[in-house]
Amino acid sequence: MAGLKILSVTSELFPLIKTGGLADVAGALPLALADLGHEVVTLIPGYPAVMEAIKGRRRVHDFDDLFGGPARLWRARAGALELFVIEAAHLYQRKGNPYLGPNGLDWPDNAQRFAALGFVAAEIGRGLDAKFQPDIVHAHDWQAGLAPVYLHYGPEPRPKTLITIHNLAFQGRFEASLLAKLRLPVEAFTLQGVEYFGGIGFLKGALALSDAIATVSPTYALEILGPEAGMGLDGLLRQRAGSLHGILNGLDREAWNPEADVHLFTRYKRAITARARAQNKLALQQRLGLKLDPQALLLGVVSRLSEQKGLDLLLDVLGEFAGSPLQLALLGSGDPVIQQGFARLAAAAPQRFACSFAYDEPLAHMIQGGSDAFLVPSRFEPCGLTQLAALRYGAIPVVAHVGGLADTVIDANAAALQAGVATGICFYPVTREALAAALRRTLTLFGEPKTWRKMQANGMSADFSWDQPARHYAALYHQLISA
Ligand code: ADP
Repeated sequence: MAGLKILSVTSELFPLIKTGGLADVAGALPLALADLGHEVVTLIPGYPAVMEAIKGRRRVHDFDDLFGGPARLWRARAGALELFVIEAAHLYQRKGNPYLGPNGLDWPDNAQRFAALGFVAAEIGRGLDAKFQPDIVHAHDWQAGLAPVYLHYGPEPRPKTLITIHNLAFQGRFEASLLAKLRLPVEAFTLQGVEYFGGIGFLKGALALSDAIATVSPTYALEILGPEAGMGLDGLLRQRAGSLHGILNGLDREAWNPEADVHLFTRYKRAITARARAQNKLALQQRLGLKLDPQALLLGVVSRLSEQKGLDLLLDVLGEFAGSPLQLALLGSGDPVIQQGFARLAAAAPQRFACSFAYDEPLAHMIQGGSDAFLVPSRFEPCGLTQLAALRYGAIPVVAHVGGLADTVIDANAAALQAGVATGICFYPVTREALAAALRRTLTLFGEPKTWRKMQANGMSADFSWDQPARHYAALYHQLISA
């Protein structure tokens, strides 16, 4: 099949700017598509970290007024990533988190900041850069959601549009009074357009008006058709079910590779895993001030701390395991109440429970390489990337049986154990009782080294690279173009 030109539109991009899995996906998918012969350029806001990282700039266009000030569009590179970057000091020249101010609240002008992203994407879609006319505009999440909307209400011809939902919980809802300021036509404010519960919905508009919708796992694609996971958008998604595709994320196998991971005490391949992992476990225990106990079951967590991630349940059940050889290495940040809970836990038993409330890439890798099991008790999980890293690193994933977790971990039930295919422990419903039972099951399996090692080997040989997902996306792009 012929190579396509794809404009990927995103508000986060690993390794330049990241708050979660969206950055990982936006960073890895273009490279996997390039390996298949497609030309992908990513449009990203010019946050300080992005402006500092880009090389070989070419000026594409100057905007006199991009939602409140002048702006310049650059074509540039950062490492292997091909980029369009919007330099707009009035919108993006702010340090720290891309969405929140220093007070922890959304920037008050997020509507304008991310409307600008969609607006420029649509302009590129219509030929702003004569050297890159995209066949497809691929928007990611609500921040890029207005790209297909501006294209829909603008002149023909236009490229085909795709929106990928990475998390339906984040929808980009703003006041209706912003309609004209956001350069949206009056006719866009309808049920078929951006109108959403009386306001403007960036994601809602994209779901209504993109040529196709993707989300990041097949199970999540089904879950969001129901009222619970659908979060107000399930009705619209049911209408568009024929255009909704569940494409599982991959893992960036260069960023997450135990054979070459500079953050590990000892790097390892499958053949020498047990000894190397024991050394990494010891190094992790030492770094976190845990008891240096090779026999303890060291449970790792790397997560945003939010209601979604279900870690409040872990706080509830740990009391039951006072007499068990269970240790915890938790790295996360977010909800201050959940954080306080874990801080109290660690203060009461620092040799058993270590909790670090930072964003710490090296420690995230150490936890994957040094913990015995890796917990993801999410109430919902569109795909989840940490369990994929855990599989690759030989940490046994203990996960809620929802969304992408259900699509990537094979529970060690009797049938899977007999067939020799188990890779982890799954539980459902997502309750404290089910989590406690899963942890008891994990302790039992940990006491059966042969079974444990078989599960580790199964997980480490599973292929969750980007190759298959990139082929799926490429097939979808072709399908859209020939429609
Ligand atoms: P989500 O996008 O919902 O936060 P994912 O599992 O899809 O969850 O992706 C989370 C990504 O962010 C993973 O790459 C994980 O390693 C990383 N991550 C999350 N919290 C931290 C943290 N505190 N420090 C370092 N990396 C983190």
